[in-house]
Amino acid sequence: MSFIPCPCCGEFSRIEGDLTGFCPVCGWKYDVNQEKDPSLEKGKNPTSLKKMQEIYFRHKLDRRLF
Ligand SMILES: [Zn+2]
Repeated sequence: MSFIPCPCCGEFSRIEGDLTGFCPVCGWKYDVNQEKDPSLEKGKNPTSLKKMQEIYFRHKLDRRLF
């Protein structure tokens, strides 16, 4: 079993071949279509990969500031 980077947060939190789970770090639900098209809004995630990334990294930054 090996870990690969999450398409959203980049942490090595995803088990290789896992297409149905979600990332324990950022909460991204693995969705083949949304990962193929980062601006796709419709899928397992309520928002696109691009937007999720923006939200995740903004929060990460906020946590560092406070
Ligand atoms: Zn993630």
